[in-house]
Amino acid sequence: MPWKSPSRPADPQGIFRPVGFISEESIQRVADANDIVDVVGSYFPLKRAGTSFRALCPFHREKSPSFHVNPSRQSFHCFGCGAGGGVLRFVMDYEHVDFPTAVRRLAQRANIPMVEEASTPEDEKKHGLRKRLLALHAEAAQWFHQNLLKSQDGAAARDYLKSRGLNSEIAKGWKLGYAPESWDALLNHLRDRKFSPEEIDKSGLASSKDDRPGAQLYSRFRNRVMFPIHNDYGEVVAFSGRTLVADPKAAKYVNSPETPLFTKGRVLYGLEKTKRDLIEKNAAIVCEGQIDLISAFEAGVRHVIAPQGTAFTTDQARLLKRYVETVLLCFDSDAAGKKAAERSVPALLSQGLTVKIVSLPTGEDPDSLIRKQGPEAFLRLVESAKEYFDHNLAEAIASGELEDTAGKSRLVRRLAPPLALVQDAVLREALLGRISTRLGVSPASIRGVMKAPQIERDSPEAPPQAALEEAISLTEGMKMLGQLVLASTDVREWLRTQSPLAEFEPQAALLDKIASADFPDHAPPHASLMAELSGAEERFLSSLGTLRAVQDPLQRAKSTVQGMRRRQLEQRIEDLKSRIGDSSLPMEERQKIQKQILDLKIRMADLR
Ligand SMILES: [Zn+2]
Repeated sequence: MPWKSPSRPADPQGIFRPVGFISEESIQRVADANDIVDVVGSYFPLKRAGTSFRALCPFHREKSPSFHVNPSRQSFHCFGCGAGGGVLRFVMDYEHVDFPTAVRRLAQRANIPMVEEASTPEDEKKHGLRKRLLALHAEAAQWFHQNLLKSQDGAAARDYLKSRGLNSEIAKGWKLGYAPESWDALLNHLRDRKFSPEEIDKSGLASSKDDRPGAQLYSRFRNRVMFPIHNDYGEVVAFSGRTLVADPKAAKYVNSPETPLFTKGRVLYGLEKTKRDLIEKNAAIVCEGQIDLISAFEAGVRHVIAPQGTAFTTDQARLLKRYVETVLLCFDSDAAGKKAAERSVPALLSQGLTVKIVSLPTGEDPDSLIRKQGPEAFLRLVESAKEYFDHNLAEAIASGELEDTAGKSRLVRRLAPPLALVQDAVLREALLGRISTRLGVSPASIRGVMKAPQIERDSPEAPPQAALEEAISLTEGMKMLGQLVLASTDVREWLRTQSPLAEFEPQAALLDKIASADFPDHAPPHASLMAELSGAEERFLSSLGTLRAVQDPLQRAKSTVQGMRRRQLEQRIEDLKSRIGDSSLPMEERQKIQKQILDLKIRMADLR
């Protein structure tokens, strides 16, 4: 059966987004071509330890390595945090990408052409257009970039970047570009490269005077320094262009419009380069502009991000929440910067992020500060950032706003709505207490101003993940059975005849999946099987040690299953006995339970 997202198991993390089909065959070929030791080893060094390899776990902080990669099983497992799975799972978790992207990445790595069959003609069309637009953006980025590096017209842009401390090495690293002062040079280049007028129109790189189809197109970006905007897998999906003319009438920045590739408010500038550092620091410094971000990054302050546009959207906050818990807003200290910060706060708080405010000296931005005083000075400011509510209190005190009742009342009205958005109830109460004490206003009156949160909420995270996690962390019997099922075809065949294994719910589903898969003894289970498993199931499988030679695996499996069934019956009998112990139980109930116990005892005897 080809892999298709709607038929996948419950997916509380929402990592499996639909993108048409990737056939089971493709998944298998990709996994076969990518040895897990090579893949993991390409991200960080692995040390050999007996038959497996070891490293410090990339998924949790630790001092001694408990992260293991098992080449014979083609799986990884961390004994510290329980992370685990196959090579595709590793790429998904490490790169924070979805399943199809992980498959595509590894396909690229192994030079395997991917055939993705779209599931409906409509999907196919959409998918086809997306691919063309990605190719078009890559071409345009390259063209802008060459213009910046080599063209004569690009001199002003080069000078501008140099004046901001960005040399040609940095321009290459970020693939910065230059859009010349021309209405059609880019469009002619794209037509030469066989992109159709319709594709050029849909890319957003061109505009027209009116909306009629077939209206004359011209370049949207003219005489601007070009910043390519990447999605979080590093593909160029849009551009932001900064003007080189000091004309107050011209917009300082022009961005791509919404296109099939680019939704404003869903993309964070720089994320594809900074995400490792975000995860490591568990915090993101939010800069206002692209140049601020690049300067900070190049000066060694790498956990940075810039929203596209001025304020954070809920989508961007949600995206950021995948990487960090704390957000440090680092906007200009002028009125516009303050406003942008204020507008960002609700979206960030509503996603459960902790918000801190970095106070820049008047007239400075991260770029100017780093160039004048060095990255250490900037980092010191970042470290002294105050939590959002404390920052507001401190500012109000400093400005003398709190000296009269009207000022206090204004501050309460300003802080109460964002306070209502703080997700953690304990934290919210603590903040409320702090504000109340500092202002001398009763908690009740602050609560009175706290409106119900206005921000849209996601449906609550589905609990099954946690439940399954717990259930799968199970008994010795289940572990043994898991090892046997992986190691022996005979065991898998026998287990199929035992189906349904209803009494082993919820692990039965996992056993069924393994039992019905087809792979040789002691070989890693097929990647297509792994693709069918939930994260919890994959973690369970990869946590199983490799089985040393067992005399008769089938016999062992039979006795293990028998043992598990017996223990289950014993457990149920125990439960019933404790209920009978309740003296308030009516006689009828008691007799019913006694009969149930008798039945269970007979079934136990049958097992012997
Ligand atoms: Zn770990």
